Amino acid sequence: MTLDFLGTLKRTHMCGDLRAADADQHVVLMGWVNRRRDHGNLIFLDVRDRSGITQVVLDKEKSGEAHAKAEAARPEFVVAVKGKVRRRAAGLENPNMPTGEIEVVAEELLLLNESKTPPFSPAEEAIGNEEVRLKYRYIDLRRIEMQHNFALRSRVAMAIRNYLVGEGFIEIETPFMTRSTPEGARDYLVPSRVHAGEFYALPQSPQIFKQILMISGFDRYFQIARCFRDEDLRADRQPEFTQIDLEMSFPTQETVFAVVEGFLTAAFAAAGIVLAPPFVRMTYDDAIRNYGIDKPDMRLPAMVSLTDLLTPELRTTLKIEQDLPILGFVIPKAGDLSGTQHKGVVNEVRASFGDCGLDLLDVKRLTTSTEFEPLAKSIRDKLTRGYADFIRSNGCADALGVDPDSPSLSNDFLTVVITPKLGTPAKWNHDPQWIYKRVGALRLELAKKFADKHKLFEQTHTAADFKFAWVTDFPMYEWDEESKTWLAAHHPFTSPHEDDIKAGRLTSDKGAVRALAYDIVLNGTELGSGSIRIHRQDVQAEIFRSLGMTDEEAKARFGFFLDALEYGTPPHGGIALGLDRIVMILAGAASLREVIAFPKTAKAIDLMVDAPTPATEAQLRELHLRIAGRT
Ligand code: ASP
Repeated sequence: MTLDFLGTLKRTHMCGDLRAADADQHVVLMGWVNRRRDHGNLIFLDVRDRSGITQVVLDKEKSGEAHAKAEAARPEFVVAVKGKVRRRAAGLENPNMPTGEIEVVAEELLLLNESKTPPFSPAEEAIGNEEVRLKYRYIDLRRIEMQHNFALRSRVAMAIRNYLVGEGFIEIETPFMTRSTPEGARDYLVPSRVHAGEFYALPQSPQIFKQILMISGFDRYFQIARCFRDEDLRADRQPEFTQIDLEMSFPTQETVFAVVEGFLTAAFAAAGIVLAPPFVRMTYDDAIRNYGIDKPDMRLPAMVSLTDLLTPELRTTLKIEQDLPILGFVIPKAGDLSGTQHKGVVNEVRASFGDCGLDLLDVKRLTTSTEFEPLAKSIRDKLTRGYADFIRSNGCADALGVDPDSPSLSNDFLTVVITPKLGTPAKWNHDPQWIYKRVGALRLELAKKFADKHKLFEQTHTAADFKFAWVTDFPMYEWDEESKTWLAAHHPFTSPHEDDIKAGRLTSDKGAVRALAYDIVLNGTELGSGSIRIHRQDVQAEIFRSLGMTDEEAKARFGFFLDALEYGTPPHGGIALGLDRIVMILAGAASLREVIAFPKTAKAIDLMVDAPTPATEAQLRELHLRIAGRT
C-alpha cells in the first residue's frame, strides 16, 4: 500500500468539535479509523481523535480517488480528511454522538499510516481481558473512556496546583534516589555503582525532605510526588503512586484541614461536583464507637449504643455479659425480608462471629413475649430515632423514598442487635474496642449484601455521593502481640498530644497517648493522612527511645534529621493525599489502573515494557552484585 505524506496539511478541527452550525465549512480532520462501513458506492469512516468521533462519507461518484483509498482503509489506520461539513438529513442524526447532527463529505483522503489488526478494538466498550489491555496499553489508552480519565486527571491536578499556589504554597521537587524513609513499608533499593555494596532507596514519601524544607524556611511546600513502596500488592495498590504532598509552618490541625478542603473543592469542581466544606470532624474514639472503624462510611446509618437499655437484671435473664457494650444498627430498605431470608441473615451473623462470644439478639422474638416486649419496643424506638436523624442530616429521604416522620418508619429497615454472651472477654489482643470493630465490620458487610435494596452506594454524580470526614486524635502507639512491644501507629515524626507529653504518659501509659494525627476519609476509604510533627529535638529523641530505638540506632537511621532539628525548627505539620484514588473516584472507575497511564499488575509487573527483567552479567558486575538464586 502506498501511504500519503502529511506535507503541509494543517488540521482545522478536532474530531469532536463539529456541530450543525458548522455546516458548509471546509475542514481538515486527522485521526484514527474507529469504524468503517462499506455500502458500495458510499463508504462511511468514523474518524476518532481524543476529543470524539466524526462520521466521514466517501462518495464514489463525487471523489473517486478518496473513495478508493477508503476501500483500503481499515480500523486504526491513521487518516487525514479534507472535506465539507454537511447537516445530516432529517431522521439520520445520531443523538448519542455530540457530532451526530453532521457528517463530513470527503473531498480528499490521506492514508497517513496503516495498522495491523489490533488485538482488540478501541471502538468497543466491553474489553474483557485486562492482561491484553495492559500489554497493548497504547491501544487501550486510545479508548474514549481512557482519554476521558486522563484528561480528568490532568484537570484535577491542575486545579489542585492552582489552588495551592494561590494559597502561597511553593512546589519543590525532592530526590528519588535517597535513603530509607519511615513510612513502614519495604523500600525499593537502587545499587550504587560508584560505592560498592551501597544502595539508595526510592522514597516511600517525601516526608523527611518536606520537614527539612520547613526548617529551611519555605513556610508552605507542596509537590505532586511519586512515592514507591514495595508492598505485597492488594487489588487497589500500586508499587509507585502519586501523592499530593504538603507541609506548612506554624499550623494548627484546622489550618491544614482548611487547605485540604479548599484544594479538594477545587479538584471536585474540575469534575463538575460542588462540595460544601467544612467536612465533618470526629475523633478516632467517636469513629470507633459510632462506626466501629477509623474510616467511617457515613453513607450508612451509624451504630447505636443500646447498652443503657439493658438493666443488669435483664442481662442476667437474657444471659448477656454485664458491663460490655450492646450495639445495634439498621440496614435501610431491608425490612421486608421473608422468614427464610431473615433466618439466613441470622445464621450468617452467628457463623461470622464464630467463637468470639458475640451473638445476635432476635428482637422479633422478644416482641412476642410479654416479659420482653417493652425492651423490644425501646430498642426499636431508639434505632428508629437514629435512622430518622440519619435521613434528616443526610438529606436522603427522597433517595430512600421514606419519610423520617412516618410512624411506619421502623418497618423500613432490618434491625441488627449484637450482644456479648456470658464469658465474652472485655479485651481481644489488648484491644478494649474490639466489640465495636467486629460489629462495625458486620455493618459494612450487611450493607454491601443489601446494596441493591437501599441503593445508598449508587452514584448520582452530585455532591450527595461524597461523604467526607476528618478523623482526629488517633492513638500514638499500637500494641504488637508478636514482638510484645508498642509500635508507632504512624511514622515516628508524628507529634503526641501536648497534654499527653505534659502528663508524662509517653512513659507511664503508652496506650493512652493520643497523636496529633489525622486522616481524611471519603465514603469509607482513607484518602490521606497527616500530622502535626515533632519540632523539638528532645521530644523526637524521646519518641525514638519510647519506640525501643537506642540513641545509637536513631542516630544511624535519622542522625541528619536529628541534627537539623537542632537548628531552629519551626512548629510544622502537613498531610499527603492519594491523587490516583481521588481521580479514580471522580472518574467512577473501578480500579486505580484505570487512572494510571502505565500501571503494574497485582504481581508488580509492567506487561507492556515487560519489567522487571534480569540484568546482564556486565551490569551486575559493574554494580558489584551477584544473584544468589531464585525462590
Ligand atoms: N508522609 C505521610 C504518608 O505518606 C503523610 C504525612 O504525614 O504527611 O502517609
